[in-house]
Amino acid sequence: MTAPDTAVPTVAVLPAVRVAAPRRAPRVKPPTKPTVIRCYRLGHHANPGKVAKVAGVLPAYQATIRAVQGDQWARWLMGGEKFWNRRDPTHIPSTLSARYKRSAQNQAVAGLDSWLEQVKPMVAGIIRNSNLPGELKADLHWLNRSAAHHKTVADIPVWDYDEHGRRTLTTGRRPAPPETLALLRRITKHVRHHRVSVPKLWRTRTMCLDGTVAQVERATDSSFDFWLRVSTTTPGQVVRIPLTGNHFFDRAAGELSNFAQVTVRRDGELRVSLVKRRPPAPPREHGVDLALDWGMRSMFATDLGEQLGRSLYPWLRRVDTELTALTATLQRQGIKPSTNKRFRAMQTRIRGYVTNEVGRVVNRLVTVHQPRSITVEKLDFRDGGMSPRMNRLITRAGRAAVTRKLLAVTEDHGITVHEVNPAHTSRECAGCGYVDPRNRQGLHFRCRFCGKRLNADTNGARVIASRRSAGAADLPYGRKAVLRRADTRFETRWGLHPGQAAKLRQRPKKRRSTTPNNRRARQVPPPACEVTSSCSNDHYEITDCCR
Ligand SMILES: [Zn+2]
Repeated sequence: MTAPDTAVPTVAVLPAVRVAAPRRAPRVKPPTKPTVIRCYRLGHHANPGKVAKVAGVLPAYQATIRAVQGDQWARWLMGGEKFWNRRDPTHIPSTLSARYKRSAQNQAVAGLDSWLEQVKPMVAGIIRNSNLPGELKADLHWLNRSAAHHKTVADIPVWDYDEHGRRTLTTGRRPAPPETLALLRRITKHVRHHRVSVPKLWRTRTMCLDGTVAQVERATDSSFDFWLRVSTTTPGQVVRIPLTGNHFFDRAAGELSNFAQVTVRRDGELRVSLVKRRPPAPPREHGVDLALDWGMRSMFATDLGEQLGRSLYPWLRRVDTELTALTATLQRQGIKPSTNKRFRAMQTRIRGYVTNEVGRVVNRLVTVHQPRSITVEKLDFRDGGMSPRMNRLITRAGRAAVTRKLLAVTEDHGITVHEVNPAHTSRECAGCGYVDPRNRQGLHFRCRFCGKRLNADTNGARVIASRRSAGAADLPYGRKAVLRRADTRFETRWGLHPGQAAKLRQRPKKRRSTTPNNRRARQVPPPACEVTSSCSNDHYEITDCCR
């Protein structure tokens, strides 16, 4: 009898088979819908008591923004941490509630992010125009794009080079050398100190209040349209501000957000704006492609030959005279113009006028032509014949207004906006592509190669249109490179040798023919016909009369 074989396993040991777990679908982040956010100012009917209570929040709000900005700034500067609006704000010293602190933190972080977005292209420009080695430039660009300006540790890609020495991106990563990071820090510091200064966000008098501290309610029991419930510094105390809509607000498409912008002006006036959100209009597929040039006589010239906004320059010149006189008076009295109330009011008026005109003209163009796309050059307003101060002012106001309006046109109507390099647009011929500074004489354009004559602004607009069509937007190039590329296009088109366009530019100006009006020419007796003494006509060529 044998002992029961307990050693025999009752369960057969199976070879280890890894059972594949049901595969989870990879987490796909839902695409963030670009949203159009528009702010509309509404009329309010708050009594002085309510206004005073809301205005009472502002000093504490400003102090909180200052503390939040200091906190976020220190973390970014010392540790390279990103500006982040979800950071726990309990350690921020403030007399406001935690909800108000979060609102202030949102506003401060939005301001800092916006500042950083202005810094990045400046840093990129310095890197691009430097004479650093190519790979170092690529590393710096990468770090700049990933906002690693003050990081002490960061990863950069491993670059791959093909047989022609062209650099391509690989999936490999390596730690960034400390000296690269230090160089980026130095460039950023330079930009911060000399180009885009850090905003003092606590100086704002506008409070961006989200749903936790300000609720928008549709009014059902009164003649007003909305009630805005704003929390105050006293716990439990809420101020209800009655608001009335207006034509623009009511007509604007979009969903009303539970968000309010409350501005307390220096004179104690309260301004309330509400926000509507909606998805942007789909891109237009049909319509003309329009090109616009900032003209010298009119605000815009189109490639169709129109001149729009003709009243702008005469008005600006008139105001410029006033502005120059006022500046001179203030300087004689030793007053800084920016501190003068009248001077500031005049600047506001000019900005408002330019913005209004830009809006009016672009609206008209959109209504009349129903374009599919609009092409503009990066704007430059220096040719208006005005004082440097005025040029600076309208350059800033005009550029901001045009940028804003074109963005609005894209969002509202789905019109695509293209930008092209402005270099040499006023000197290039829209007909043959020849570039010569002598092509343009004031408002007139006459090509020295093909003889085309037309209005200089219309020519500019047509060159802009051609740069878009030719795929020659040339945006990243400097003036010299743009000229080289335009010359190459011109030479290829007309079958000329390389370098011939530059030679054509060096041709001396043709002497004017002898005419009775040309007095100087009349003084020199013209040579007699040398072919035969029997001919008494004054000419150089052999003509029938000589034979
Ligand atoms: Zn020409």
